[in-house]
Amino acid sequence: MRITAAFFILLLIAGIFILGAGVLLTGHAQRKEQIMNEETEAISAPEVNGVNDLTITVVYDNNPYKEGLGTAWGFSCLITGTEKTILFDTGGDGAILLNNMEKLAIEPNSVELVVLSHIHGDHTGGLGDFLGKKPDVTVYLPKSFPKRFKEGVRGYGAKVIEVEEALKICENVYSTGQLGTLIKEESLIVRTNKGLVVITGCAHPGIVKIVGAAKKLLKDDIVLVMGGFHLEWATKGKLQEIISAFKKLGVRYAGPCHCSGEKARSLFEKHFGKSYINIGAGRVITMADLE
Ligand SMILES: [Zn+2]
Ligand SMILES: [Zn+2]
Repeated sequence: MRITAAFFILLLIAGIFILGAGVLLTGHAQRKEQIMNEETEAISAPEVNGVNDLTITVVYDNNPYKEGLGTAWGFSCLITGTEKTILFDTGGDGAILLNNMEKLAIEPNSVELVVLSHIHGDHTGGLGDFLGKKPDVTVYLPKSFPKRFKEGVRGYGAKVIEVEEALKICENVYSTGQLGTLIKEESLIVRTNKGLVVITGCAHPGIVKIVGAAKKLLKDDIVLVMGGFHLEWATKGKLQEIISAFKKLGVRYAGPCHCSGEKARSLFEKHFGKSYINIGAGRVITMADLE
């Protein structure tokens, strides 16, 4: 009888211990789950609130890429996936521009904004024919453009925005502002979730200076620099210097086209390897190219 009572007391004590341990363990598991949830949320939250499905279609370039498209001296590309659809530069010839757009299934009507890098005819020559098809756009151009050019654009019914300092064009898209002295030029910057994409027309103010300005303006990594780098007559030493400067600035991908020159293109290809982007008329660059 006495043994049975002692056994029951022991059982009761053991029960209290098991129950206590259970409560403690449950509390620990709940806390652990809570911490894990917090960690998962922190990882899944976007680090940079940039564009995540940017597409750049090269509509006009003197370098060939896609069969069946016209090539001529100049540059133009379409930027989609951003808040507004943007045509950056218009090439030198309106007929080639519109024909290439048609072959690439780009409706002129889909363009909301036009950004002109600089006054040279190989970047502005296609504008008139384009505005003839789609006059209801806003055209961003360097303030230094001649008055009669601006009046001509307004004459089509388009709105003109004169760019002097760096400015925001639409969500995640910026202009460097007009840089340079002799030939003033603006470049386009798109903030993506992989860093900044810098697009240049001819890079007359100097490609390294432009990339440096973009980095200083938006304080972010540079994922891609593409467009005309204006290096046709640069010596090999100068080209090496520019490539080193790109690496120092942390540029991950380079796509020199238009007025970059064959020598620069092949040297960039050699130094950037898989991170070199071959650009010509009809090339489409998506986020998948910037892994
Ligand atoms: Zn130029
Ligand atoms: Zn040019």
